[in-house]
Amino acid sequence: MIKLSHIKKVYDTPAGPLPALKDVSLTIADGEIYGIIGLSGAGKSTLVRCINMLERPTAGTVEIDGQDLTKLDDSQLRKVRKNIGMIFQQFNLLSSATVYDNVAFPLKLAGIDKKTISQKVEPLLEMVGLENKAGQYPSQLSGGQKQRVGIARALASDPKILLCDEATSALDPQTTQSILKLIKDINKKLNITVVIITHEMQVIKDICDKVAVIDHGIIAEKGTVIKVFTEP
Ligand code: ADP
Ligand code: ADP
Repeated sequence: MIKLSHIKKVYDTPAGPLPALKDVSLTIADGEIYGIIGLSGAGKSTLVRCINMLERPTAGTVEIDGQDLTKLDDSQLRKVRKNIGMIFQQFNLLSSATVYDNVAFPLKLAGIDKKTISQKVEPLLEMVGLENKAGQYPSQLSGGQKQRVGIARALASDPKILLCDEATSALDPQTTQSILKLIKDINKKLNITVVIITHEMQVIKDICDKVAVIDHGIIAEKGTVIKVFTEP
């Protein structure tokens, strides 16, 4: 379970303190697909980066399975982050590395041996439908294929949680559908908790169980997708 309690995040900027999150509390159950929707600048990205502590909250607690991440030092956090995969709008692939090496990268960093790496990478490439692209470079791939590489890389360390930061925003509607289907399959098959941030209502309606609407750093509404998006 992911439990964010009274999260506040204030950025120091040249123009003064900027409160990006004001008092955000959110509970995400294991196995859920949880959507966070809001306009640009609402605080979605800051919120999702607080879950893996890429941003340290100014106040509040971030508990994962009862462990408060805000109390951990950097080396303890590195261990916890292995349980949290992340994918991005711009894919963030290494352009000079092949598909295979992009997926292998986190495992190489962790010092895992080549044989174990290939036993891990090959089934992942198969799972995302890229088993025939292992030797290609990102520039040779479509947007959807690049995001499939991103997903395989995110899953390489066997995470319990997958964070998706506008993961389909750079893709056309049809490709978006196929990536959302893949994310749903992964959620079901691997029982991974998924957190999706998006500005697109359709993404939420297509695959999320629950949704939080964020506006100017505050949760305006949250609950099941049906409840939040049905007129009273
Ligand atoms: P969203 O993902 O909903 O677009 P963000 O979390 O990216 O929102 O941004 C929320 C607010 O915080 C915005 O006003 C943005 O300009 C500001 N912000 C985000 N990241 C930083 C940063 N690293 N430094 C200063 N301000 C930031
Ligand atoms: P290293 O580059 O660390 O020596 P390897 O000896 O494991 O890595 O592999 C050499 C290169 O072959 C890798 O950089 C990788 O791009 C590629 N490679 C390894 N295994 C596969 C595979 N199953 N499919 C496609 N390419 C692979």
